[in-house]
Amino acid sequence: MPLRWFRRTPRGIADDLWAQVLQSQPLVGHLDAADLTRLRALVDGFLAEKHISGAAGFAPDALVQASIALQACLPALNLGLRAYADFVEVIVYPDQFLVPRRRTDDAGVVHEGIEALAGEAMDGGPVVLSWADIGPGSHETGGNVTIHEFVHKIDLLDGEADGIPPLPAGRHARWVRLLEDTYDAFCDALEHVEAQIPRSVDPESAAADRYYEALPLDPYAATDPSEFFAVSGEAFFVTPVRLRSAYPEWYQALSDFFGQDPAGAHDAEASSIR
Ligand SMILES: [Zn+2]
Repeated sequence: MPLRWFRRTPRGIADDLWAQVLQSQPLVGHLDAADLTRLRALVDGFLAEKHISGAAGFAPDALVQASIALQACLPALNLGLRAYADFVEVIVYPDQFLVPRRRTDDAGVVHEGIEALAGEAMDGGPVVLSWADIGPGSHETGGNVTIHEFVHKIDLLDGEADGIPPLPAGRHARWVRLLEDTYDAFCDALEHVEAQIPRSVDPESAAADRYYEALPLDPYAATDPSEFFAVSGEAFFVTPVRLRSAYPEWYQALSDFFGQDPAGAHDAEASSIR
């Protein structure tokens, strides 16, 4: 048998599929041709290394898989696939999935319940996503569940979900200070907004949405510093100009970390239209 039979042919993503997935993703407009080539190589590697499988009857086709891979690789563009070395499985449900939760409160009482999730990133385990929350139409909410969960994976690289990813020694102290300061500022802003909601309006209802719209980030970011980093990661790619004008120093730290400047690309576009 000729030796070439044993050689592995590199099977990357096909040109037409790549074009299709780029077209379906408005999030890559800030990348130049060289960045897009690097992103495509990462997507190829991601698709080769990971298992993107469906659950509860959902069968992710090649476009769904490539679309998830692209969004997963976007925050890892500067970090490489080593950011995702600790897991292989990406599991996609057709809709939100139910997860049993057990929590012990301050009084020592154990609460058990079931929670419906749009996405979950497990430490050392799979990333689980709901297609209803990441597929077509889901981006109208201004967020991005896929990026959110993969930013959690990047945060978890050093073993802790604390909003502090692995950083070069010289950048660590600045990140921690900015994370704390910006998180506190956001929690204050949220409290301010909540105080403005009239008593007649249920803060959990859709009627309260217009009050929260004044905030530069989804209120979920106030949960803890880990969620603040994940929600900031979504905003960095989806609503970068808004994030930068609210928290310029935090935006800059994220820009240095992700090695990208989505808001800067908007500036360039705006000045060329003039
Ligand atoms: Zn989260």
